Amino acid sequence: MIDFRSDTVTQPTMAMRKAMAEAEVGDDVYGDDPTVNSLQDMAAEMYGFDAALFVSSGTQANLLALMAHCDRGDEYLCGQQAHNYKFEGGGAAVLGSIQPQPLANQADGSILLADIKQAIKPDDIHFARTRLLSLENTIGGKVLPQDYLAQAQSLAFNKGLKIHLDGARVANAAVAQNVAIGDVTQYFDSVSVCLSKGLCAPVGSILLGDERLIHKAIRWRKMLGGGMRQAGILAAAAKLALLDQVERLAEDHFHAQLLAEKLQQIDEIEVDVSEVQTNMVFAQLADQVDPNKLVHSLLHKGIKVSPSKQLRLVTHADISRADIDIFIEQLKISLAR
Ligand SMILES: *Cc1c(COP(=O)(O)O)cnc(C)c1O
Repeated sequence: MIDFRSDTVTQPTMAMRKAMAEAEVGDDVYGDDPTVNSLQDMAAEMYGFDAALFVSSGTQANLLALMAHCDRGDEYLCGQQAHNYKFEGGGAAVLGSIQPQPLANQADGSILLADIKQAIKPDDIHFARTRLLSLENTIGGKVLPQDYLAQAQSLAFNKGLKIHLDGARVANAAVAQNVAIGDVTQYFDSVSVCLSKGLCAPVGSILLGDERLIHKAIRWRKMLGGGMRQAGILAAAAKLALLDQVERLAEDHFHAQLLAEKLQQIDEIEVDVSEVQTNMVFAQLADQVDPNKLVHSLLHKGIKVSPSKQLRLVTHADISRADIDIFIEQLKISLAR
């Protein structure tokens, strides 16, 4: 199968499987797992934070961050398209009694600083307390400019807000700009990072923050059923995600460019190649194309794509240059039917 649905479909590498088999483990709820501890120390050190916490998913990392920053009746500002607003089941509201205040995302993924300023509520008993600004990078495959992050940080600081980054794909953002991940994370009080997307780990995310935030997050994680025991089995693969898989993302970005250029030459498809910044390509199908039929036909050829008028195609470690050629060839055949 050639699977373009997401970079979450990556298989763990052979090195990861070997490291998992050989991992030294302990009970992580007691803080006894040496492999988890070494992953957390390593991540905190690499990205310039006091502490880090290994958690089951990106959704959990974001929820823990929101619950650690905000109390009941507080609110966070985020984009309308933010994963931690739109795609996480309303967890902050449901489980944290935290109100989201979504704001328009611009075409480049940013939120206007003026919109942020205007949305911060005065200290008044009528309003939820605005506590946190949450950004996402990359967002829809797009990289937020470094100077924008600096401006957002200084705005948050001046207004007494904390600032969180949903950095599920922060490694893609760093590689695309040829900077270190720490150069991107430096502007934030907390960051969530997915290790199970382009970085190939089978399971897990990292939450970064100061000691106090991570301490609160550990408590919420336990309450939410996320205390794991011999989690070093997973952390062993997660370490290799951070050590071995980050630079490789440049290949995924190159493949996405290549894919977009080839798609652009197909009549029934519209793609803006200049919009492709990392590992995602958005391809608009012409009106006469039925996305469900197309997806079904491709599936018969061993190619998986999510059905939509606007296809989201994601490149990752298990998609080669040859796979892209196969896809384009089969796509042309399917469209000609
Ligand atoms: C995937 C993703 C998450 C959630 O990660 P899971 O591990 O799937 O829970 C959060 N934020 C963004 C931007 C994501 O792409």
